Amino acid sequence: MSWTEERVNLLKQLWGEGKTAAEIAKALGDGVTRNAVIGKAHRLKLSSRVSPIQQNTKKPKAPEAPKPKKPQQVRKTDFKGRGIKMSELEAGMCRWPNGDPKDEDFNFCGCKAVAGLPYCEEHARVAYQVSSRARTLNASDFSEDSGSPVEFEIKTAASG
Ligand SMILES: [Zn+2]
Repeated sequence: MSWTEERVNLLKQLWGEGKTAAEIAKALGDGVTRNAVIGKAHRLKLSSRVSPIQQNTKKPKAPEAPKPKKPQQVRKTDFKGRGIKMSELEAGMCRWPNGDPKDEDFNFCGCKAVAGLPYCEEHARVAYQVSSRARTLNASDFSEDSGSPVEFEIKTAASG
């Protein structure tokens, strides 16, 4: 077979459409091989194409990763209660710690604790973040809360 103008134009057209050399060869027919198409395209200085697959590998700009939220701070309240020293702390008193256990003036709330809880009503609400509107304060609600930072602080102070 010979490269007539018609065939060359068909080659250019199909090449431009992004057809593979094998597809173009099949379209041209008449025993044209894939290699013949590639060779002709090369001689025609047809620009080398990027395959559709490669074109699609260009990923869109990844959305900015959300910044991790700050870990929740230890809950705070302005209510300090009676300021009871650890040596004065008795059963039924609120064990809410005021300040740092390492500090000289570290003390506990010492107000009357809610039955079944280590804290007074004010501090229990803060410690367990119970909404007084949504829920009624209930000792059974806190039975599984064994790892509060307040408990840890008290133990640290006692051992030191
Ligand atoms: Zn308290």
